[in-house]
Amino acid sequence: MTPRIIPRSEHSISRSAISPNALRVLYRLREGGFQAFLVGGCVRDLLLGHEPKDFDVATDALPEQVRRLFRNCRLVGRRFRLAHVFFGRETIEVATFRAKSAPSQAEEPIPDADPEEGEAPEIDEPLEADLVGSSAGPADASMDDSERAVDETGRILRDNVYGSIDDDVWRRDFTANALYYNIADFSLWDYVGGAEDIASRTLRLIGDPETRYREDPVRMLRAVRFEAKLGFHLDPGTAAPIGRLGELLAGVPSARLFDETLKLLLYGHGARSFEILRRRGLLATLLPTVDAYLAAHPGSLVEKLLKQGLENTDARVVDGKPVTPTFLFAILLYGPIAQAIEATPPERWHELGTILDACDRAVREAQAEIAIPRRFALGVREMFALQPRLEHPRGRRALRVLEHPRFRAAFDLLLLRAEHGLVPRATADWWTRIQEASPPERAEMADGLASSAEHKDGPRRGSRRRRHRRRQPAGST
Ligand code: ATP
Ligand code: MG
Repeated sequence: MTPRIIPRSEHSISRSAISPNALRVLYRLREGGFQAFLVGGCVRDLLLGHEPKDFDVATDALPEQVRRLFRNCRLVGRRFRLAHVFFGRETIEVATFRAKSAPSQAEEPIPDADPEEGEAPEIDEPLEADLVGSSAGPADASMDDSERAVDETGRILRDNVYGSIDDDVWRRDFTANALYYNIADFSLWDYVGGAEDIASRTLRLIGDPETRYREDPVRMLRAVRFEAKLGFHLDPGTAAPIGRLGELLAGVPSARLFDETLKLLLYGHGARSFEILRRRGLLATLLPTVDAYLAAHPGSLVEKLLKQGLENTDARVVDGKPVTPTFLFAILLYGPIAQAIEATPPERWHELGTILDACDRAVREAQAEIAIPRRFALGVREMFALQPRLEHPRGRRALRVLEHPRFRAAFDLLLLRAEHGLVPRATADWWTRIQEASPPERAEMADGLASSAEHKDGPRRGSRRRRHRRRQPAGST
């Protein structure tokens, strides 16, 4: 199979748009006598004129050979070893071309190099004997176990795990993600028509779509993600099987679904991703209770609150402000939590125990598919547990709430609720004002709560009980 080679003069990728660290890695590999390409999302994004999130390199150098070229390098992964080359905060991932029988990205999730994320799959597994052997140094070429054989130049002759670029390309998911940028002459290698598909904004699976989705159902979520993030349209053949195969997601490890959920909803295109997930029927497998709630309550306040929350989160990402899975799961699970609260007698709706039970139940149900790490599940609980305290601040105790580590997220949720009439506007305004106030003003505001009889000025204690009874606590289902 020969690629279409697009020379530098016929494509738009300029080296000035490539991370200098990625260029260093590419040049060093080349000087070492190896092939070196940029591949995947970064090439796609460069062609689109977007700034790539990260730069991935593909090479014919074996992982050990890569390691010998870079001091700042660590090998990760089990059967399929990858090299991570570190430059301060930036990590360049260098993968040896995969052979046909190499584990897919699905079997061997590529660890996230961002320590901030914290949820990356374990990366420092013990080396597997069949791959490492006992050889060190250039003796790689002499390894002749049945798993692989390389000639004296390190070129792979037979290998069950590593292959050539010509094998590597067929393992990739979409044509748009399968372009290789060759550092030798700055050309693009296109085996699958990726350049044309990028130009026409088409997302097309390589090979038979149903087979590819069955191999790795996460590709359905990736299709939604690229549809939302890049504004590509799905080729009809790529779109059609999703409706039928969505349930296969239930078989994907829940830790991986957590990662994919964040990539869908927490990277600046969450509102669009959510809508597409629903439309394509994937929300029903990913978050069945959320999907069922929305289906049972069309046009509900909860739906509006969720959409608004996702849009607010997207706006924060665009502004470079921090976002958190805790807030995301709080708004996703708002419907199921409200439903669990409202299943209890109305006089219990505002009790802490009711709220916490509802949160625990909603999280537990979601955990069946998505492994929400404990600290985020606890965060959701705290956000909801703080709502009654925010709705009914009591004297100077109210000031302590301001110091609560989850105050900011809880306040954001209060604002969303106020926007949708689930909490009096005046209450949200009071909390907005007190955050801007000086310490003496704060104390005065808090004292004012106890004595004030003026309702319009914010929350007060007098009519509280009557108010709850009338108001739906959470969802207004
Ligand atoms: P992003 O910009 O969101 O990082 P990306 O395309 O770079 O998008 P990655 O998850 O970083 O996505 O993966 C890098 C490349 O690895 C992809 O472009 C694709 O070629 C390949 N790949 C990743 N996941 C899969 C998969 N599940 N199946 C097949 N190929 C995959
Ligand atoms: Mg990427």
